[in-house]
Amino acid sequence: MKKLLPTSTAGSLPKPSWLAEPEKLWSDWKLQNQALVEGKQDALRVSLQEQLNADIDIVSDGEQTRQHFVTTFIEHLNGVDFERRETVKIRDRYDASVPTVVGPVSRPKAVFVEDARFLRQQTAQKIKWALPGPMTMVDTLYDDHYKSREKLAWEFAKILNQEAKELEAAGVDIIQFDEPAFNVFFDEVNAWGIACLERAIEGLKCETVVHICYGYGIKANTDWKQTLGSEWRQYEEIFPKLQQSNISMVSLECHNSRVPIELLELIRGKKVMVGAIDVASNTIETPEEVATTLREALKYVDADKLYPCTNCGMAPLPREVARGKLHALSAGADIVRKELTV
Ligand SMILES: [Zn+2]
Repeated sequence: MKKLLPTSTAGSLPKPSWLAEPEKLWSDWKLQNQALVEGKQDALRVSLQEQLNADIDIVSDGEQTRQHFVTTFIEHLNGVDFERRETVKIRDRYDASVPTVVGPVSRPKAVFVEDARFLRQQTAQKIKWALPGPMTMVDTLYDDHYKSREKLAWEFAKILNQEAKELEAAGVDIIQFDEPAFNVFFDEVNAWGIACLERAIEGLKCETVVHICYGYGIKANTDWKQTLGSEWRQYEEIFPKLQQSNISMVSLECHNSRVPIELLELIRGKKVMVGAIDVASNTIETPEEVATTLREALKYVDADKLYPCTNCGMAPLPREVARGKLHALSAGADIVRKELTV
């Protein structure tokens, strides 16, 4: 029988301190050249082992080979000048110095496919691979060429589709697109954001996920959350259209967030990766807290479609905290799994 409530993470996990400065986004690599290549692979092995030790069912690379979930992918594309930087407000929230699109964008060669193949060789578990979503990519750049967010997103969708097809061929079971921008630009999501995602998954046979969260636990995000009021109803704006889309799974922030859980009813029929671990706090959840979140979600998500997960990536957390949270996630899922099978 298929295991109910298979656990996974949103993607990133902390890097070892010998590879990159810990508890920081965009932290510089501490190794160079061949030592860096080997160091990243070693970190990936460690990250995988920690997931397996915690009984995580659907494992990832922990994003050990990338500096950042968006920019590392963009760095490999033609048409983007990383020397020419502009300061823009990303996610309508905080200023960041970003590279500039200076010409037609294209992918001269695969970006993560070798890394995915390496992960595939290390485990027989189901593997999930995260890519940035088209809208979030557009929102992390300055565009001096297309001068249209929609046009640029469409070009990125085509590029992501090439990468996704090669990831699928390399043995990836689930391909995830990270779209935190979906929580901010609702009109654009409905006008073209979801259509671009569907273009990115065109022709894929594997499962596909869109991850929509309130961001890493960094200050700009926690400050923003303070302004969102007592109920976070952002998902309500985009769920109806998402429910109609070809994306098979949706990964969401739930635990400790002010998202009214009943909004999940709006995507009934989709598989849902329910965030039962808060990534903006160093407090490790108890298994019972995880179970409580999952039980709430079960009112709106059928048991065979519920995937216990983290709210977002855990890259900025101390390693022992992330490790504790992985174990709590499994233990909490286990409690509810037993309740479902009596
Ligand atoms: Zn996230």
